[in-house]
Amino acid sequence: MTDIHPQQPLETQPRYAQHGHYPRATTVDDFRRHLAAVHARIEAACKRVGRNPGGVRLLPVSKTVDEARIRLSYAAGCHMLGENKVQEAHRKWDAMRDLADLRWSVIGHLQTNKAKLVAQFASEFQALDSSHVAEALDRRLQAEGRSLDVFVQVNTSNEAAKSGLPPEAVGDFLRTLSAYSALHVRGLMTLALFSAEGDRVRRCFTTLRTLRDRLRNDAPSGIALDELSMGMSGDFEIAIEEGATVVRVGQAIYGARATPDSDYWPADGQAVPNG
Ligand SMILES: *Cc1c(COP(=O)(O)O)cnc(C)c1O
Repeated sequence: MTDIHPQQPLETQPRYAQHGHYPRATTVDDFRRHLAAVHARIEAACKRVGRNPGGVRLLPVSKTVDEARIRLSYAAGCHMLGENKVQEAHRKWDAMRDLADLRWSVIGHLQTNKAKLVAQFASEFQALDSSHVAEALDRRLQAEGRSLDVFVQVNTSNEAAKSGLPPEAVGDFLRTLSAYSALHVRGLMTLALFSAEGDRVRRCFTTLRTLRDRLRNDAPSGIALDELSMGMSGDFEIAIEEGATVVRVGQAIYGARATPDSDYWPADGQAVPNG
């Protein structure tokens, strides 16, 4: 596998080493160009493993991006956006209700007391990992007369501070979800280890796919496990090679974020030793 060589130019480095170097999009044309580049990367990854690019959905992630730039990205074709933090997402949804077909996917950990907000505006929730949250979401959704596509988040990297269920707990958890008719289970989601070592990253994605394949065989009725949401700007090609059907991409579209990734998930090196 390829390693990062700091003395070599950026273009020859593996993609996951280029994290943080993505140029900032400030015009609709910038967004069109960045989206075309991401789609080209998606197609190339699909081609390597004989997959149809139509089987991979690109979910642009707009966290920290202001309303003006989100509107430019919308004009360039981003009509469903991923946001990590519920309050930020809710605020943006409220400010851009005039864009009637703009939909929101909440992709970050949720506390039970925020379920009410998600039930109001989200089309998709990708980080379900607790029965309390499932119960609260279902109750709030029933009250709103809405439903929600959900992904169960799995902790495939065995990092103590990372959200998501351990793989061995997912089967039992899925069985409890049939009780919640407003939740439509679509599949599994994971955040890989954030590491420069491509094969350690790949192992997380392989874990999610094999788990999905195993659970799909005896999934409770009404529970579809077709989707695998995995891969972000730095590692989505590896995720696609391992079967991703949704890739969540922020920086390669919007540009490098000023906020550190540790605002959203733990840094590498916090893995539990007995992994
Ligand atoms: C921010 C985020 C992403 C996208 O990361 P980028 O490096 O911006 O591509 C993907 N998934 C989750 C859960 C995120 O919070």
